Amino acid sequence: MKQYDALVIGGGPAGITAAMYLARSACSVLLCEQLTPGGQILMTDTLENYPGYPKGIKGYELADLFSAHLDGLPVERATGAVDSVTGEAGNFVARCDKQEYGCKTVLVCTGARHRTLGLDREATLLGRGVSYCALCDGNFFRGQAVAVVGGGNSALEEALYLAKLAGKVYLIHRRDAFRGAKILLDRLNGTDNVVMILDTVVAKLHGETELTGLTLRNVHSGEERPLAVEGLFVYVGFEPATGFLPAVLERDARGFILTDTEMRTNIPGIFAAGDIRSKLCRQAITAAGDGATAAQAAFIFLEQF
Ligand SMILES: Cc1cc2nc3c(=O)[nH]c(=O)nc-3n(C[C@H](O)[C@H](O)[C@H](O)COP(=O)(O)OP(=O)(O)OC[C@H]3O[C@@H](n4cnc5c(N)ncnc54)[C@H](O)[C@@H]3O)c2cc1C
Repeated sequence: MKQYDALVIGGGPAGITAAMYLARSACSVLLCEQLTPGGQILMTDTLENYPGYPKGIKGYELADLFSAHLDGLPVERATGAVDSVTGEAGNFVARCDKQEYGCKTVLVCTGARHRTLGLDREATLLGRGVSYCALCDGNFFRGQAVAVVGGGNSALEEALYLAKLAGKVYLIHRRDAFRGAKILLDRLNGTDNVVMILDTVVAKLHGETELTGLTLRNVHSGEERPLAVEGLFVYVGFEPATGFLPAVLERDARGFILTDTEMRTNIPGIFAAGDIRSKLCRQAITAAGDGATAAQAAFIFLEQF
């Protein structure tokens, strides 16, 4: 079994940064990523708040640049999902794509995945009108009516993106105000084909084989009404995927991993960075910052072996 100083799980902004810092500290590193490197920024049209890019940068371009940054460094890569981590500090064993790897430390950078609305036939209509990624699927709805559900930055950003493609965008939020950035809200307010619907939830999806519309319900009056749309884009938050990690690893009530400010978890030798962590701000820049801190903390931890 091959041995490494550090195993980094997840190739988003947190994992790529952690791998970069560890390799530059002469640690042997294996980076396991189940998909294409880049993480959630591959689902983002343009990042306007990543320092150094005053005009914004396309998500896929930043992902390519992140990945290219590793190319000149001695970081080994494996493609596959890590499905178990066992053992203890200095002697962890992780399984990725049926292969076992030994490592002294583990850096969990597995991010978060979208939450669903939990409606009947939501899974059946996935890819048939229901989507969680405007960048991936928006093009299918050129000139059509779509709904975006959510009240945070992701929902606002994606509604703006869809407004350039779709004929009409209904932005639906269950509260009386959006919690996303004011600059995005101002832009949406100035966009003719966007209609905001507050205090409202999606109660039902219509359509057997393709989405044909929604039933909306006002959260105060309970009144229901139909809305004809061809597409539904859901941005109602994210949930962490930590099922493959030891049960004794401490999580918060929502399942995000608890760490101290140096990204140490309650299990010596296991660090967590990025969106997988219990924290306030989930962004590319904070994920990258967490990755750098976790790498430095792991580097210091490795001195004992
Ligand atoms: C639509 C949208 C718009 C956004 N817009 C912005 C924005 O404008 N600006 C901004 O700063 N941020 C934005 N974000 C948030 C930003 O993308 C995330 O905060 C950031 O990508 C988190 O980085 P991460 O490395 O922690 O996790 P992720 O980016 O989620 O990466 C985690 C990686 O781990 C991999 N993985 C998961 N489980 C396993 C496993 N078991 N084994 C191997 N690999 C695994 C995943 O495939 C993924 O590639 C946006 C997010 C979305 C969804």
